[in-house]
Amino acid sequence: MSNVVIAIPLFMLMIIVALLPLLIGVYVYRDAKRRGMNAALWTLIAILAPSLIGFIIYLLVRGNYSNLKCPRCAATVTEQYVVCPKCGAKLKPSCPNCSAPVEPDWTVCPKCAQPLPTVQEDIVTPVQPKDKTLWKILAAIIIVPVVLLLVLGLSFSAASGGGSSSLREVSFDEYYADQELPESTKEYVRNWLGEINPRTDHVYALRYTY
Ligand SMILES: [Zn+2]
Ligand SMILES: [Zn+2]
Repeated sequence: MSNVVIAIPLFMLMIIVALLPLLIGVYVYRDAKRRGMNAALWTLIAILAPSLIGFIIYLLVRGNYSNLKCPRCAATVTEQYVVCPKCGAKLKPSCPNCSAPVEPDWTVCPKCAQPLPTVQEDIVTPVQPKDKTLWKILAAIIIVPVVLLLVLGLSFSAASGGGSSSLREVSFDEYYADQELPESTKEYVRNWLGEINPRTDHVYALRYTY
């Protein structure tokens, strides 16, 4: 019974451990591709570097790459884009004279020194898509050690609670010291033990009939 109890979480754990690099690989590939990073290279780094170091480095480096989307057509855009290259939506205020990107609170264009209008119309702010997959991966990374500890705890309690695993080796004379057996029987068993030349990887049984 205790074997079954241990086997089920162990099986689940094996599945999670096997799926985690796959999950991370698929996530990194898609995320890197969306940000215009070298997707194949980053996927290899994230999967092959030990102890998730590659994945952690990827999460740190990817901040330098844009993950913004045009709110109108969902095309990938960066903070520097004045208009969406796909649908032409205005993403950022620009100088009416030289079209350089400007900030909303600037009054003069830093490029051509022309005064800027105070209000610019029809600007849609790029959106950052919500990243649910990352949280799922992080949850799995936390769940794996927890399940591992749980399995270890279960198998430990099963081993110590069962009592059957606490084996102690005793010699024949120690075992039969308190037994009410005729001396001839003890002699017989002693001889049998001497004959079989026991090996540690074998189990021996002696049956004697009255
Ligand atoms: Zn667009
Ligand atoms: Zn200008």
